[in-house]
Amino acid sequence: MAILKRFQHRDVEGFRVGRFDFGINTSFIIYRFGGTVFDTGSSNQWKYVKPFIEEKPLKQLILTHHHEDHSGNAGHIQRLTGVTPFAPAITTDILKRGFKIPPVQRILWGAASKANAHPLPATMYLDNGEPIEALFAPGHAKDMTCYLLPERGWLLSADLYLANHLKMLRSDEYVPQIIDSTYKILQRDFDTILCPHRGIVEDAKARLTEKYDYLIDLSARAQALQQQGHELEQITQKLLGKDPWMSALNNHNFCRRNLIASCLEVAL
Ligand SMILES: [Zn+2]
Repeated sequence: MAILKRFQHRDVEGFRVGRFDFGINTSFIIYRFGGTVFDTGSSNQWKYVKPFIEEKPLKQLILTHHHEDHSGNAGHIQRLTGVTPFAPAITTDILKRGFKIPPVQRILWGAASKANAHPLPATMYLDNGEPIEALFAPGHAKDMTCYLLPERGWLLSADLYLANHLKMLRSDEYVPQIIDSTYKILQRDFDTILCPHRGIVEDAKARLTEKYDYLIDLSARAQALQQQGHELEQITQKLLGKDPWMSALNNHNFCRRNLIASCLEVAL
């Protein structure tokens, strides 16, 4: 089963691909503005991504971070089109040497691909001359970068937003940094988020502010329980309930306990 859904929102095309339909976290939207494509979808969806990429001459491919759903076809696209992707400097290093992914993510997304990428140039533009501004936003991943289209107030948010009430966290995510990055991005002007999992999010600053407030509040409640002497497992159970079966399957690479453990490190 593959999810294939296309949509158009003004001048941006969205193409959603994914092997499983278990909700927004198991599928991925590639965004295209004319000759500019943001992120690539996962390597196990290449047979669907390839014809999408072939439809229009590709001028530039811009990556947000190295995770396999975002970069998995970077090498394929480069070989197909001759276009070398642009990526944050840390991402270029990771993609050059390759990286390991946990088994469940491998089932979901396929293998990670190695690719050569160029570091982001000082200035970037859409085909119509609109500037694209890179905003480094680590936390979800150490290399994550969002892209702002300041003239229209659109934010390509990578995995900064996802949901306003996160319930689980990857083991390589770090809430204190997610909070700092979210705060930084909230200082900019935008009203629309293009999220590669959730889709087009309107009233975006309010939604992202809700997420920010939620993480601060969750951190405060977790730390209060810790001060009362509760252990991590108990705090997680009290605030978020039991981890679903998927968490044990993936060896707690993605679970509620990770979220609470990281909230306990937030300086409030
Ligand atoms: Zn990611």
